[in-house]
Amino acid sequence: MTPAIKIGEPFITADAIRLRVKEMALQINQDYTPTGRALSVIIVLKGACFFAIDLLRHLTVSTRLDFLQASSYSGMGSTGEVHLHKDITMPIAGTDVLLVEDIVDTGLTASWLLQHLSSHSPASVRLCSLLDKPRGRRIPVKIDYVGFVIPDEFVLGYGLDYDEAYRNLPAIYVAKPY
Ligand code: 5GP
Repeated sequence: MTPAIKIGEPFITADAIRLRVKEMALQINQDYTPTGRALSVIIVLKGACFFAIDLLRHLTVSTRLDFLQASSYSGMGSTGEVHLHKDITMPIAGTDVLLVEDIVDTGLTASWLLQHLSSHSPASVRLCSLLDKPRGRRIPVKIDYVGFVIPDEFVLGYGLDYDEAYRNLPAIYVAKPY
């Protein structure tokens, strides 16, 4: 059975998230508008959905969307292995790709996915992650757009889950074991 957890006050409020997501979108618009090309936005299911959709609302560059699903986590810890559950179906060869993640912890998932997308011969690939937990890093990953750098705590809400629960919370919370 999944151990019980408790959550307290928001660690990152819904207002702070809203502001930061808008800032990130403005930066992405600035970087990609000069290309004049459509941006292939690849959203990592399920955790990055809330973030990616809010980000997309502020993008003024033209976008093409696809999803992929991978996992390396079970409960509150990394398994150390990446499993691809759903691959992209949209062709991305020759396009600029933006991979949108919820959080980078060990870096295993993001680096595996970046390599996977690179094998489709895109013109460029960049990584955008709402959260970065650098203390958990096992392999180096360049995150081109970061929302918030956070300490090595297990967080949930705004798309992030604890065994599929809590994704719908509008803010981000630190989960503590009971
Ligand atoms: P990594 O491969 O970098 O260790 O972990 C990436 C994935 O692990 C994330 O996409 C996310 O699904 C999960 N993950 C890592 N840290 C956390 C966390 O603090 N909270 C939640 N809910 N998921 C996390």
